[in-house]
Amino acid sequence: MVAIAVAIVAAGRGARMGRETPKQLLPLGGKPVLRWSAEAFAARPDVTRIVVAASTDQKDAVESALSGLPVRVEVILGGATRSLSVRACLEALVVSSAPDVVFVHDAARPFVGDEVIDRLIAALSDHDVAAPVLRPPDALKVRRPDGGLGEDIARDGVAAVQTPQAARFAPLLGAYRTLPADADLPDDLAVAHRAGLRVAGVDGDPNLFKITVPSDLARAEALVGPPEPAPIVATGFGFDAHRLTQGDGMTLCGVPIPGPLALVGHSDADAGLHAVTDAVLGALGAGDIGDHFPPSDPQWAGVASRRFLEHAVALAREDGASIAHADLTLVCERPKIAPHREAMRAALAEILGVPIKRASVKATTTEGMGFTGRREGLAAQAVVTLTWSGAAARED
Ligand code: MG
Repeated sequence: MVAIAVAIVAAGRGARMGRETPKQLLPLGGKPVLRWSAEAFAARPDVTRIVVAASTDQKDAVESALSGLPVRVEVILGGATRSLSVRACLEALVVSSAPDVVFVHDAARPFVGDEVIDRLIAALSDHDVAAPVLRPPDALKVRRPDGGLGEDIARDGVAAVQTPQAARFAPLLGAYRTLPADADLPDDLAVAHRAGLRVAGVDGDPNLFKITVPSDLARAEALVGPPEPAPIVATGFGFDAHRLTQGDGMTLCGVPIPGPLALVGHSDADAGLHAVTDAVLGALGAGDIGDHFPPSDPQWAGVASRRFLEHAVALAREDGASIAHADLTLVCERPKIAPHREAMRAALAEILGVPIKRASVKATTTEGMGFTGRREGLAAQAVVTLTWSGAAARED
């Protein structure tokens, strides 16, 4: 795998947008225009560094626009011309280990696809520089100095050039180093041509357009759709207690516990699952377990309490919620919980549809105090956290 560095030129003012904020920093789908292409590059395992050239007054804004990307990012000061800004990026890349390949990209082209990047890399096997190109969609004519139009230009003979432009690093750096300081060439291809490098064109992508005028931003916004809403997080709390009696075993947190103790209740009296059920319902704002399964209704007599929790989980799913976590504390002197704890976690995780590490079961006593201390009963407390993201978060 070749080591790829990316140089992004973000020093422009973008006067044609007619906005105070430069176009590369305008919000697009909830993040700055510049971040879109930087994220596309950063997501690739072969991209090791990104260097961005910014103007003095935009350096801080560019740094914050690119914070937290999963790749090394450096923001440097650009030059007075595009050529000087690219040169500054290349020189910054030399400082530690120089990459094999560099991509030079305009900050105002947000939609860089992997396919174009792969085509460019492939073209470098027998060229020094490669650029994505499109066949102009409109007929082309020569324009006369007097404003008139002249003969046709064959569209097959011309190409509209986009960025990113890819280059073998050493030849491109050499080409820039021989460029006079006052030269301002439109792109890297021009610099490469001047130095006699071999240049290839590969198929470009219509979505790789540059945001230059307000209608370009509207087109970009239509492509990305509305911004992702912030996720919603809600935590519900549940409490339950049931009387202990002499008997022939109980089910607690979905796990059968044999022994001389039993729990008294209308259902199987599994206070653990009842507390978790109420916590799920609490996070949903959907009442309590008694509303959904009235004790007066004979159909719930002796029923396994996992039915109640399964119902609450189904309500959460219908609402678009994901279950992030559940934490249950059982309060009792007897039975001993520790021998059953992992089985309880597994049962809870299975019913909730979460990994075991997201299902916590803890136990405590009240040191002989109160109804649990006198072994009259067993209590349970639970919290459950639900999250809504994407479309489910937008419905609120
Ligand atoms: Mg109960």
